Amino acid sequence: MYQAVRGTQDILPDDAPYWRHLENTIHDLCARYGYRRLEPPLFEETSLFVRGVGEGTDIVEKEMYSFTDRGGRELTLRPEFTAGVMRAYIEHGMHTWPQPVKVYSIGPAFRYEAPQAGRYRQFHQVNVEAIGEQDPAVDLEIMSVAWDLYETLGSQGLSFQLNSTGCPACKPVYIRHLVAYYEQHLDDICPDCRRRLQRNPLRVLDCKVESCQPIIEAAPHMRQYLCAECAEHFATLLGYLDLLGRPYTLNHRLVRGLDYYTKTVFEVWAGEGLGSQNAVCGGGRYDGLIEELGGPPTPGIGFAAGLERIILTMKAQGIAIPQLPAPQVLVAHRGAAAKARAVVLASELRAAGIATLLAFGQRSLKAQMREADRAGVRFTLILGGDELAAGEVTVRDMSAAEQQRVAPAEIAGWLKRRL
Ligand code: AMP
Repeated sequence: MYQAVRGTQDILPDDAPYWRHLENTIHDLCARYGYRRLEPPLFEETSLFVRGVGEGTDIVEKEMYSFTDRGGRELTLRPEFTAGVMRAYIEHGMHTWPQPVKVYSIGPAFRYEAPQAGRYRQFHQVNVEAIGEQDPAVDLEIMSVAWDLYETLGSQGLSFQLNSTGCPACKPVYIRHLVAYYEQHLDDICPDCRRRLQRNPLRVLDCKVESCQPIIEAAPHMRQYLCAECAEHFATLLGYLDLLGRPYTLNHRLVRGLDYYTKTVFEVWAGEGLGSQNAVCGGGRYDGLIEELGGPPTPGIGFAAGLERIILTMKAQGIAIPQLPAPQVLVAHRGAAAKARAVVLASELRAAGIATLLAFGQRSLKAQMREADRAGVRFTLILGGDELAAGEVTVRDMSAAEQQRVAPAEIAGWLKRRL
């Protein structure tokens, strides 16, 4: 028996209304803010992610699905979208477009992580980016798109977690102080943190190990070391958030896993439904990334939200979603000649825009009525010997249990007036 590969899952039809509602909400929301769709490919050169996401990150060190293709290329299934979108920005000369370039993508991403509730090896993200503008109002806009997404979907108890990770002028100063502080506590920290201090010191702030928590709590904060420009940027952003009345918590531990972040980093936390995984969305500014990837110096900011986690939250919070439209008409038949007519009629109705089911096989009319009941259609059209002889169709209104005859040429119009 084959099974879906560990960490992957089928999206079954019962969940389709959630996905459709979520995707529609994303398209509408992005359009409202003036973001246009850009879909990078599912795989890119491995080195793009190594440089873009950063050596020493969990993603690059242990989570990438990398392979050599038959032409000898080193490729990786995208573990995130930003590197691919930046590659596209550079490749298509988007720095010559009006700035900022505002784009979004939706689709699967792949990470070799330990699967658990809300954590998969294939998962879906919506990724939103504003590239080419450093105004803190853009930070606010990106955070607002993320916020509105959850609010529009009806999520409860939302809050922002917010921090600034500085810039190439001030971040290294902070890292030196952080490392110096940690060096006084080498005996008390976990082996992972000792390794992080060498490879990616900011990540010590992310550590979940119990014995490291008091050390993290007492560690110096990045915000104490921000340069004047970064401090002003951050203060302006906080001022905007206050104006809009958006709740936020300053979180000095929030550094996020990826190397490329500068200045603003944030997460949206949802109140309920995901236990320890309550970050439903994360993002930040990456002013050095495009240059790092070989493009002109260009600021940018974006976020990614996990769609599976949004759907888990919607279910946990009992958020109502619109049902998908289902066929309202079933064509039933008795006898071979009537079935031939039924095949044509069903085809004509669909061409007229009416979602229609055709009964298969040659079952009794009673069995076909049961099928119509199960499918929940409003009308069953019946074609039998009598109808063929009279050149008519019997229409049965399933809720009223009434029937009447209608001419085939008029049936589409008749149904449309009633559906
Ligand atoms: P990141 O790119 O790690 O900042 O992730 C952004 C968002 O994607 C997270 O807040 C999650 O909602 C979602 N996400 C990340 N990794 C996974 C995963 N392995 N499975 C499901 N969702 C994920």
